[in-house]
Amino acid sequence: MAKRLAKITKDLCVACGCCVKVCPKEAISIYQGKYAQVNESKCIGCGLCAKECPASIITIKKREVVA
Ligand code: SF4
Ligand code: SF4
Repeated sequence: MAKRLAKITKDLCVACGCCVKVCPKEAISIYQGKYAQVNESKCIGCGLCAKECPASIITIKKREVVA
């Protein structure tokens, strides 16, 4: 399990899908066309999505528990 994880401020997400396209792990999906959500078990915390997001609402955080 990776030590880092992407967190999306979903209230500010415009569901543009930019993050979905760049994620190498296919860890992000758009929920009901409204906001992006991260599949925590797939995310490796690489930060590509955070760089790509035009709204800059993705941050990379340390995971609370490293399994
Ligand atoms: S940090 Fe990397 S692996 Fe995780 S959701 Fe973003 S692009 Fe995908
Ligand atoms: S790139 Fe940013 S605004 Fe666009 S869907 Fe992803 S989190 Fe939402």
